[in-house]
Amino acid sequence: MTWVKRLIKFSPVESISMELVRFDTQLIQNPEIKGIEYQQGELAGYELREYLLEKWGPRCASTSGKTNTPLEIEHIHPKSKGGSDRVSNLTVACTKCNQIKSNQDVKDFLSGKPELLKRILTQAKSPLKDALLS
Ligand SMILES: [Zn+2]
Repeated sequence: MTWVKRLIKFSPVESISMELVRFDTQLIQNPEIKGIEYQQGELAGYELREYLLEKWGPRCASTSGKTNTPLEIEHIHPKSKGGSDRVSNLTVACTKCNQIKSNQDVKDFLSGKPELLKRILTQAKSPLKDALLS
């Protein structure tokens, strides 16, 4: 219910369906432990997405900051430039920001927005429990 209250701030909640998502406790304790292997399999992928939404919040973490929009998993440092599939290299962004950023490195993409860049890089390195406390 804590999350429902938080979500209401961003968008009206018209109905609530409880989804009992069981987080992988090993992932929570050390989200960097797996990476690619963890993302394989549908359930694992779903939990990864939930994890990222809890970590980053239900909004685009990129330039638009939009809520109420479909969010995609986004590589902070693009895979095409050697970025990993680790949770610490993933965030959520709206389709538009994702397309604009394309395969640019986040440092190039946000070179004109140093504060946003710093926030993203700092938060990316924080495990979920730290993100929730901050
Ligand atoms: Zn966006």
